Amino acid sequence: MHELSITQSMLNLVLGQAEQAKAKKVGKINLVIGEMTGVVGECVQFYFDFLSRGTIADGAALAIKAVPTKARCRDCGKLFEVMEFDWTCPHCHGNNMEIVAGKELFVESIEVE
Ligand SMILES: [Zn+2]
Repeated sequence: MHELSITQSMLNLVLGQAEQAKAKKVGKINLVIGEMTGVVGECVQFYFDFLSRGTIADGAALAIKAVPTKARCRDCGKLFEVMEFDWTCPHCHGNNMEIVAGKELFVESIEVE
């Protein structure tokens, strides 16, 4: 699992931003995680609690927004949500498509005090 390194870099980013804002405490972190990244929110939360100890982000609330995997069919041009990694277009049953959502992994915003 790669959640540990992801959480560490996320925390570094948050702490850097909080420092720039001269914050005393980080209240909330809004995270966006695409389904395709395979990152498990509970794991991020677990590592976050552990890694943030002793920093100004200690005790911050982690709000995770999950983004479902979406693809656009190259044959019929329709947009659809990919279910259970079933890479077949539900409209024309083709399997020639491009991924348009689900690879996101970033800190959307943070709230500091
Ligand atoms: Zn199609």
